[in-house]
Amino acid sequence: MDLLTFMEHTNIVDNARPLKGWRLALLHWSKGDHNDDEVTEDCHQVDWVRLVPFAVLHLSCLGVFWVGWSPVAVGVAFVAYWVRMFAITGFYHRYFSHRTFKTSRAVQFLFAVLGNAAVQRGPLWWAGHHRHHHRHSDAASDVHSPKAHGFWWSHILWITSRPNFPTRLYNVRDLARFPELRFLDRFDTIVPILLAVAMYALGEYCGSRFPESGTSGWQMLVWGFFISTIVLFHGTCTINSLSHLFGRRRFATQDHSRNNIWLALITMGEGWHNNHHYYPGAARQGFYWWEFDPTYYLLKMLSWIGLVRDLRPVPKRVYDQDVSGP
Ligand SMILES: [Zn+2]
Ligand SMILES: [Zn+2]
Repeated sequence: MDLLTFMEHTNIVDNARPLKGWRLALLHWSKGDHNDDEVTEDCHQVDWVRLVPFAVLHLSCLGVFWVGWSPVAVGVAFVAYWVRMFAITGFYHRYFSHRTFKTSRAVQFLFAVLGNAAVQRGPLWWAGHHRHHHRHSDAASDVHSPKAHGFWWSHILWITSRPNFPTRLYNVRDLARFPELRFLDRFDTIVPILLAVAMYALGEYCGSRFPESGTSGWQMLVWGFFISTIVLFHGTCTINSLSHLFGRRRFATQDHSRNNIWLALITMGEGWHNNHHYYPGAARQGFYWWEFDPTYYLLKMLSWIGLVRDLRPVPKRVYDQDVSGP
């Protein structure tokens, strides 16, 4: 029984002074609740308690002034960025949110864990909100539209508002069938904490076994976890914010989505956002060979070794709608 249910059962909530503000926010946080019915609440208020983890993660990056740097720590941060970026783009986005290919239950779980390690909550929460974004793109009910709610809201603040904290279960019934995914979603801080501990252990090992590497547990924690995670977080968030503001529009979609090569470079191909909004059902988002889409190339390679299959193509009728021509 979770804390909130216990308090309700024992009438602690009713008999005590009603919980408000940060205490209520903490209680719901501990409950990790979800919404079974469509949420249309148009709330654009920052829940300050939920800004605390973001602030802590950002401030932890300043630890670099104490721990310094080494090629191995920066290299690990680099790898941790791209591996987790691929888990987010290839699986959280193109698989869990849009089902653009098929895979086995084991591979699905593996990439759900890797995506969870990106500290962007669980796969059901991520996909539930993303499906909502496609259904309400740039309308007032879109949870992260820079056009409707401004840049900072669309980039980061939307995550801290109370209606956006629970998992939108009504949007992800297909994924909720898997208890292992629900577990990851419910306890979405376990994997990130394990990653942080693993980074510290790796740094300690390298530092003692190979002193010439010039690294340490704390240095590896700062680079491999904090800096890598924060850069990854903002890289991903640019697709919610900047890719609805800057770039070219190939398709006349109802929203303000844009194609932007710079965003494609930092997000492994997600910057072809106008393509994606026009036809979200394809495994590729760069619709032409010159639209750099490494997530698609990696998915293609995984299909050659049988780890994924049935990558959905871009239909010919979509190319026919291209107003800019090939
Ligand atoms: Zn979008
Ligand atoms: Zn999408």
